[in-house]
Amino acid sequence: MGQVQGKVALVTGAAAGIGAAIASTLGREGARVVLTDLDDRRGEDVAAGIRNKGGEALYLHQDVTEEARWPEIIGEVERRYGRLDILVANAGIAIISTVTGMSLADWRKQMAVNVDGVFLTAKYGIPLMRQSGEGGSIVMISSVAGLRGSAGLAGYSATKGAVRLFAKSVALECAGARDNIRCNSVHPGIIATEIWEKMPVGAQDARANAPIDPQVVAAAGVPTGKLGTPQDIADGVLFLASDASQYITGSELVIDAGMMA
Ligand code: NAD
Repeated sequence: MGQVQGKVALVTGAAAGIGAAIASTLGREGARVVLTDLDDRRGEDVAAGIRNKGGEALYLHQDVTEEARWPEIIGEVERRYGRLDILVANAGIAIISTVTGMSLADWRKQMAVNVDGVFLTAKYGIPLMRQSGEGGSIVMISSVAGLRGSAGLAGYSATKGAVRLFAKSVALECAGARDNIRCNSVHPGIIATEIWEKMPVGAQDARANAPIDPQVVAAAGVPTGKLGTPQDIADGVLFLASDASQYITGSELVIDAGMMA
């Protein structure tokens, strides 16, 4: 019996990196998983990987910033499964720039994906979660950059700080016995995914398949000297999604190998 056996989960940004690991882990633990992303080829591959291991998964194309698509996505989840128990707002982008160098267009783009996208995930997901009367768990992926400032990533930090307090607010709105929907944020440290390919030169060795220069890692401030893996984050999300965390809501799980210590 899996840790989220029989539950229905929706994961945004599930075609790559952390989102793919979250979707695969929830699928492995018995959830029926709906994956959404912009990247259809890779999203279909992740869903097929879950099915090949005996799980149940459905991939749907989605830009999380497009409000009109949200009722269609949630409608499809309802038609197919009739309920939604786990909602993971994971899709996100990082745009590197100094404050003075950043264009308003890039600022807004990052806000749109990282903040509007998370808002729309909650706005459209919660009503279906309420329908079963059995409660549920929402996990919003923030960052250590949502807990402190980041030079060169000020816009990103602003979005992730917003996600942190949005998660707490959703937790308070949905905490009543009638809803019983929990909501928590997860704050990854430095995780080896493609998001790092967009980072400045000094951080590029952080990619999973590149040789890792310990000096780069140390410079990035990871006390253990190790980068995290998407699975490290997925394991934390699984805990928050499962009944093992039933008394945890409005909280934040920092998975950063001590960066914030
Ligand atoms: P990634 O770039 O590897 O994957 C992100 C996925 O989101 C991609 O599949 C992409 O297509 C999808 N996506 C992007 N914009 C989208 C949109 N508008 N609509 C739907 N899907 C969209 O990134 P990742 O490292 O796996 O990051 C996942 C989350 O974790 C993000 O919210 C990111 O900010 C956060 N995070 C990552 C790190 C890290 O070190 N990798 C650290 C802290 C937080």
